Amino acid sequence: MCYAIPGKVAEISGRVATVDYFGEKRKAYIDLIEDLRIGDNVYAQGGFVIRKIGEEEAKEVLDTWRELFFKLQEQDKKLANNPQSLFERANAIRQKHQGNSCCVHGIIEFSNYCSCNCLYCGIRRDNKDLTRYRMEIPEILAAVGEAVSLGFQALVLQSGEDPYYDDDKFEAIVKEIRARHPVLLFMSIGERSIKAYQRMYNAGARGVLLRFETSNPEVYEKMKPKSPPAPIFQSGGLETRLNLIRTLRELGYLIVTGFLIGLPGQKSADVMKDIKTTASLGAEMFSFGPFVPHTATPLANTPTTDLSKMLKIIARTRIMNPEAKILVTTALETLYGLDGASEALMAGANSLMINVTPKKYRRLYDIYPKRFGSEMETMEHIEKVINLLQSLGRAPTDLNVQT
Ligand code: SAH
Repeated sequence: MCYAIPGKVAEISGRVATVDYFGEKRKAYIDLIEDLRIGDNVYAQGGFVIRKIGEEEAKEVLDTWRELFFKLQEQDKKLANNPQSLFERANAIRQKHQGNSCCVHGIIEFSNYCSCNCLYCGIRRDNKDLTRYRMEIPEILAAVGEAVSLGFQALVLQSGEDPYYDDDKFEAIVKEIRARHPVLLFMSIGERSIKAYQRMYNAGARGVLLRFETSNPEVYEKMKPKSPPAPIFQSGGLETRLNLIRTLRELGYLIVTGFLIGLPGQKSADVMKDIKTTASLGAEMFSFGPFVPHTATPLANTPTTDLSKMLKIIARTRIMNPEAKILVTTALETLYGLDGASEALMAGANSLMINVTPKKYRRLYDIYPKRFGSEMETMEHIEKVINLLQSLGRAPTDLNVQT
């Protein structure tokens, strides 16, 4: 199974290739691939060519996709026709600007140790009841290999802020993964130094998932106490985090960022500012989700956000950002299931993540309870997502590359 359609390199100009997908032309950076030529068949993800494949393999995949590709596009167009309501308008904008492509990234949560003490988060340092785990490099590599064999082309490596993994370890992890697998790698490891991120970039990582959590500095201060962290972490306030995200973008990373909805003290105006802040950070993907209370945190009794409010925020985000990739977060799926995900996809969203953490650890990555997918076999999860996408006329691809 594949989560992307291969294209053919039609043109190369400097660092950028033009890739042709059934007649649709997209641009992608070529610096992750050696020796690329016009006529090569390639996979691209997030605006990077990540893999070259042979003519035979390309033909096989394209033969299965050719008919379905146009059928799905038709279905998507039909569903986006004649928009009236807020959600329908958002969906029509998504359809017009982003087409039916839907990013499906895999996420591997490799450690639940965390030196931060965020009030909302179940893996916070002070949650002494949680069984902690961390995966060694060979185990991480095995998990990546498993995900790649299932067809994932873009993977997020996520953890708490765990000092066990120093800069050398991270560089080694990225280097090894890139040497073995043609995947687009996103790091989601919190506030490391610019130097550490530069080394991971040089080793082949190209994305960062780092939410700013809230653009309201007072709420941020309350939610993320400046507990004494290990010296390798920067531990400033909101501005430090925002500046780190800005610098990472300047380094060339694709940025996935966003915020939590429903934090105590957060106002509606804050959410509008959160959307604008995400855009101003140049996010290639917006990642915002409902806060879900966890009993082992100080926010155990804080209520969560209802689905209709979430959908309205997604729709507004889409209307304000026609070109964005907007993620249906696991938190939304946890609260509202795949039906909720389906509604989100029909209100402007166009990306999903699938948890590919080894199953024995999934429940322990307990940022909030009963996370969607943690009890499901990965294959079952993939099938459910693919069926959902296809019922809506979406293709699990990453065609909308940007330069
Ligand atoms: N250490 C990494 C990863 C943190 S966990 C980092 O700092 O980026 C990933 C995300 O989970 C957080 O950014 C936060 O937005 C989200 N999260 C944590 N607790 C949550 C909760 N109770 N409900 C919903 N989302 C939560």
